[in-house]
Amino acid sequence: MNQLHWFRRDLRFADNAGFYHALKAAKTQGGAAHGVFVFDPAILQHLPRQDRRITFIWDSLLQLDAQFKANGGALHVLHGDPLVEIPKLAQSLKVAAVHTNHDDEPQALARDANVALALDAQGVVFRSYKDHIVFERNEILTGGGTFYSVFTPYKNNWLKTLTPFYLKPYPTEKYASALAKTAASPWPSLETMGFDAAFRMATPAGEQGAAALLQDFSPRMGRYGEARDFPAKKGPSYLSTHLRFGTVSIRACARAALAAQADAKDAQGAGVWLSELIWRDFYHQIMHHRPAAMQRSFKAEYDRIEWQGGALGDERFAAWCDGRTGYPLVDAAQRQLNQTGYMHNRLRMVSACFLIKDLGIDWRRGEAYFALHLNDFDLAANNGGWQWAASSGCDAQPYFRIFNPITQSEKFDAQGQFIRRYVPEMAALSNKDIHAPWLAAPLALQAAGLALGKDYPYPVVDHAQARDATLARYGVVKK
Ligand code: FAD
Repeated sequence: MNQLHWFRRDLRFADNAGFYHALKAAKTQGGAAHGVFVFDPAILQHLPRQDRRITFIWDSLLQLDAQFKANGGALHVLHGDPLVEIPKLAQSLKVAAVHTNHDDEPQALARDANVALALDAQGVVFRSYKDHIVFERNEILTGGGTFYSVFTPYKNNWLKTLTPFYLKPYPTEKYASALAKTAASPWPSLETMGFDAAFRMATPAGEQGAAALLQDFSPRMGRYGEARDFPAKKGPSYLSTHLRFGTVSIRACARAALAAQADAKDAQGAGVWLSELIWRDFYHQIMHHRPAAMQRSFKAEYDRIEWQGGALGDERFAAWCDGRTGYPLVDAAQRQLNQTGYMHNRLRMVSACFLIKDLGIDWRRGEAYFALHLNDFDLAANNGGWQWAASSGCDAQPYFRIFNPITQSEKFDAQGQFIRRYVPEMAALSNKDIHAPWLAAPLALQAAGLALGKDYPYPVVDHAQARDATLARYGVVKK
């Protein structure tokens, strides 16, 4: 009665629902438990050869393997189609069941359904568990039995439903002795899979990296509410990549927030942070109930909008991607993304809003760019964020709310510290001029050694004109 756990968005040993069930079944049924991760070429083929997420996964797998080895076992790592690899491995290891944790992305659900069928044909059971989020699928519904499309009542119900039971850790260590004491075949290398093994993100990987970040964030959690909106400050947790790949348990994060809430001085900040974790659940339940919204506007009438296309659209889009729109805060945001794979939440809102409502570009183009470049790319959260900015999503900002990129800059990067970090051309401008250099006096530009149009672009659009054009473009949603 051997068991196999298939790791995907849960690259950790501790507090892992599916892995716990595999270990426990092995222990109680007198077999051994194995673990596997599969690099799927169908996913890999769309990624750039230099991809920080791949090296993050790799480094996290090394840590996981070290924990397997410490318990006398070894993690299997394969490169191939899971539809072939999982049934093949299940057969060779003679397992009775394959365990895994839910992945509710539409393509993952289709893959899992096929893997389950193939296993069933071999007489192997496929079991999947909730692990990635606190409340999923139909767990939080309105009184009428429908899913929530507005966040605040969802959050209230989420908080009302939460009991310690939902955050209880799965004690994998209790059954770790059930791990199979066998070696695994050599792993495929990053190079043979076509990736640059030296291309890394600054975020430390694996469970150890996540634990260090959570430890670092815990004393700052009380100040999260005030600090989180200022990109030059160390305000947020920087845990998103770990939450995406499951190197930290969402239950551990929620427990940390609740523990901090118990201390009056930290309660407010911890409550705001917990809200962000609830947004994550919220967008996942939207994806579950409305998978079509991962491609189309959640509010169908927003798909009547005609976006800026053609050569002008391409030109504007390229300027946005590269961080040369002439709006320093937007450019700093895009350059942060391109250079590090991370973008601060406030800047994601500003930059997405700018692409959609200043440049008139279809939100799906920006969503796809983020998907390719964000270390923490997560379909549900990314789509939710983009449709929020486009006003086409559930509980989105109203269509007539258009961020002013200059006032956002003055408010959230008043001293220009963040801009100076990523747009060094601006370094010598004053704190007043740095937000809109084209409005600076010629002498101030000269003193800062900045020639607009040469060292740094003029603004790609005029915000006031763009705002009017956007209101006209969005006019169709009112009809
Ligand atoms: P913290 O502020 O410390 O928040 C803690 C955690 O809560 C995050 O790690 C994340 O898991 C979750 N979270 C926070 N805000 C949100 C939110 N608005 N929606 C859902 N979950 C949230 N987040 C992603 O994880 N992946 C994405 O692909 C993604 N794309 C986005 C695109 C746009 C246009 C916008 C506006 C937001 C997007 N977000 C995305 C949400 C948010 O910006 C990031 O989660 C956050 O910036 C990550 O930094 P952090 O870990 O320091 O977050």
